[in-house]
Amino acid sequence: MTSQTIEFDNTLSGRKDSFQPLDHSGEKNVGLYTCGPTVYDFAHIGNFRAFVFEDLLRRFLECRGYRVRHVMNLTDVDDKTIAGAHREGKALEEFTARFSQAFNEDLRALNCLTPHDQPRATRKIPQMLELIQTLVEKGIAYENEGSVYYRVAKFAGYGKLSKKKLDMNIAGASDRVDVDEYDREQVSDFVLWKKAKEGEPSWESPWGPGRPGWHIECSAMSMECLGPTFDIHAGGEDLIFPHHENEIAQSEAATGKPFVKYWLHCKFLLVDGEKMSKSKGNFYTLRDLLAKGCDPMALRLALLATHYRSPLNFTLEGVKEASESVKKMDDCYALVSSISYQSEFSTGGYVENSEIVQFLENAVTRVLNALSDDLNVSEAFAVIFEAVREINRAYSEKKIDQMNYGNVLRFFEKMDSIFGFDIEPEKMPNQILEFLKRRDQVRKSPEFRSSKELQSESDKLRAQIAAHGWIVKDGRLGEAPIAKVKRRKWD
Ligand code: AMP
Ligand code: ZN
Repeated sequence: MTSQTIEFDNTLSGRKDSFQPLDHSGEKNVGLYTCGPTVYDFAHIGNFRAFVFEDLLRRFLECRGYRVRHVMNLTDVDDKTIAGAHREGKALEEFTARFSQAFNEDLRALNCLTPHDQPRATRKIPQMLELIQTLVEKGIAYENEGSVYYRVAKFAGYGKLSKKKLDMNIAGASDRVDVDEYDREQVSDFVLWKKAKEGEPSWESPWGPGRPGWHIECSAMSMECLGPTFDIHAGGEDLIFPHHENEIAQSEAATGKPFVKYWLHCKFLLVDGEKMSKSKGNFYTLRDLLAKGCDPMALRLALLATHYRSPLNFTLEGVKEASESVKKMDDCYALVSSISYQSEFSTGGYVENSEIVQFLENAVTRVLNALSDDLNVSEAFAVIFEAVREINRAYSEKKIDQMNYGNVLRFFEKMDSIFGFDIEPEKMPNQILEFLKRRDQVRKSPEFRSSKELQSESDKLRAQIAAHGWIVKDGRLGEAPIAKVKRRKWD
């Protein structure tokens, strides 16, 4: 196990910072907030680049012994969800429930760990109102005709995350700036509470009926779940400004405390050099790709294999390549797992050797060291595929046996816990075991080499085994059956 210092590129400081959690109790608690989807449609795989990167971040910290509390919100009230519900003639909650559920199914299909908390904006309105009220009382927010705005000029630290100067904070500078007809004192001020419009869902407030602005949602939900100051906040690069800049402004002005210590942002997933997005129409949902027969783990690998701070150009070719890499890992894992079945059939004669075990222990440390350097996945994957080559070589040289195959499997399990590859051997059904035993008997009979009948029976049994998707690997003592790898199915 490595003890190398963890470093993350922190958008707030603009450099790589060593990771020192806020919790000094020795419990190694870490608070992680990641901005979740707006549930008005299926998320596209650009969104999933962000979610898979965040999942790697969490898994890695957990493998380094941290107790991560992961909060991911669902934005279930905004212009898009309201418009969608209106279009389908449904209540807002009914409309968003479908996409919230679909989102969680997609997360599971990609083997992302379930967040510990998944607050929905519509369930946290009182917390948002309280925060807005505090800002109004402090003179940082003001009401105008039933809406409430944040007076950006009042917050000295404004721009510290995005490095934007106040005069650059122009409405429309990002597609997520609230460009609406609400009246603000300054164009840079942003809305905290929007006065209800005719026919829109609304909640009561001290300023009359209305609904929250998008930025206040995340400030209120993150602080409610993780406290006024927490360790890590992550999202895609489009959220740096204005969303995260505004979250800092709201939270720090209200509490007087630092909001978040480390801010991590992933670069976009691109299609032909352009951001994949709903508005450009250049997107695939996960469901589109699975319908094309894409393996969710290949997609997960394709999303993970490029460092999060480099843009990722998405191609189906790239997913195909990732799928070959997944197959390499699966085959290697299956080969080694098959040793557990071989004792019954093999005639023995393996060479004992711990060289591979030592190599793999070292490989785990090298992977964790690579990831400790701002999640350097390129180096980590280079180590993994070097290990796969070494394992295959050791297997063919009969250096993996009943004594040490468990150590080899443990390497895969460790990589699985860090990267979420979802590798799990399928238990061999009894029927297949019976076929194998029969085949083994046939092949061990003294007449086997001279008897065409016995050879044909052996071939028939192999075909029956293959018909169930199990493969018998020849060329090794005992005719080792290859175990199958079980894959998570999209539900
Ligand atoms: P949204 O549902 O638009 O709020 O986005 C959910 C998450 O996906 C946020 O963290 C966004 O920054 C991220 N995101 C959106 N589009 C992309 C993209 N093309 N590449 C990477 N991340 C993205
Ligand atoms: Zn957010």
